[in-house]
This record gives sequence, C-alpha cells and structure tokens, in this order.
Amino acid sequence: MQQKKSKGSLFIVSAPSGAGKTTLCKKIISRLPNLKFSVSYTTRQPRPGEINDKDYTFISRKEFRSMIERDEFLEWAEVHGELYGTFKKRIQDSLLSGNDVILDIDTQGAMKLKKKIKEAVFIFILPPSLDVLNERLEKRMTDSPKALKKRLERAIYEIKTYSKYDYVIINDIFKDAIRQLEAIIIAQRAKSEMINSQWIKENFLNQGAK
Ligand code: 5GP
Repeated sequence: MQQKKSKGSLFIVSAPSGAGKTTLCKKIISRLPNLKFSVSYTTRQPRPGEINDKDYTFISRKEFRSMIERDEFLEWAEVHGELYGTFKKRIQDSLLSGNDVILDIDTQGAMKLKKKIKEAVFIFILPPSLDVLNERLEKRMTDSPKALKKRLERAIYEIKTYSKYDYVIINDIFKDAIRQLEAIIIAQRAKSEMINSQWIKENFLNQGAK
C-alpha cells in the first residue's frame, strides 16, 4: 500500500531572539500531527529548564569540531559566540519516515540551506516592533546587559534578511501568528508535488482498468 505523501517537507524558521519563535514552534508541533522539531546541537550552556536532547543536544566545542570534521551537520553557524548545528541524520530519518520537520535556525544557517535545499519552505518571524523585542529580551533576564545589547544589534542584522524568506509572520497576537504558521504548513502539505504519484496510480488510475 503506497503512502499518500511522497516525502516530508522541511520548514526553516528564523527570527531574531525574542521574537517568540521557540514558543511558536513548540505550539505548532503540539497542534499538528506528523510534524517534528529538529533538535540542534550547541556548545552553549543550557538555560534553566532546558532539557538535553529535547531543547538542544548540549556538547563541548571539541565534540562539535569533531562532528564538523565527520561532516555530520547539514549546516552549522556561530551565533552569539557559540556554535549551533543541524544534525543531518536526524533530519533525514524524520523526512524518510514521512514526517515534516521544523528547523529553528539563525539567518546564516537558513541562507546556507536556501542554496542547498531548494524545496524547503523559509519562514521569518518578526516581533511587532523593536521596543517590544527589547522588552521581551529584558524580561528573560538570562542575559547580561552587554549580551542583551549584542542580541539587539544582531536582531537588526537578521531582520535585514527578511526578503530572502518565502513568508513573514509578525508575532504580535500569538493566536494569529500560530494560525498563519499553521496555514503555511497545511498549504505546503496540499501541494501537488507532495503527493505520491504511485499512490494516485494505485488508488485512481489503475482502478479504471479493472
Ligand atoms: P538560543 O541560544 O537563543 O537558543 O539560539 C540562538 C540562535 O541560534 C537562534 O537564532 C536559533 O535559531 C539559532 N540556532 C539554533 N539551532 C541552530 C542550528 O542548528 N543552526 C543554526 N544555524 N542556528 C541555530
């Protein structure tokens, strides 16, 4: 029996930190079936409440470097002085088992993947304003004032890449932002190229000949 879908889709989601991307990604995964979150590897320290292998796989720089040498990352980048990478095998396994995968990665990583994976869907999340972004970052209280300033500077640098993405979602009212993200994923799933042609043959075209 053929599957309806030929393969899973990759959704690349980027945003300046504080735009609410992680919350949006978690929520959409709890709402839609067959959608998996790609857990990245990072050299940064876990924040309070973060769980190894769920939020990130936390590893040392030495381990990260070895993974680069073994060509185990689909892409990797240095963000805020720490290394972050997408493990190739995790993505391939999820896609092959027919799941869609969400990658929460920075703009450098996203631009690398744009060249490599033409069929991926690129989504950029914007905060409603720079003031709101500042407020959200301050509320987190996990960063020093210096780190906070660095994050804001980087936010502006990242926002400049918005037009390279297929979709932009403004995360002002959370419920609306989620609906937009859901609509993008559902529309992608209904694309004709996502349907397995063998399934069409088996269920429709070969039936007439019986
Ligand atoms: P945070 O430390 O706040 O969790 O993440 C910092 C930045 O790193 C975010 O923009 C996040 O999207 C990005 N990031 C997380 N995982 C990856 C990854 O595997 N590759 C790349 N390029 N960026 C990542």
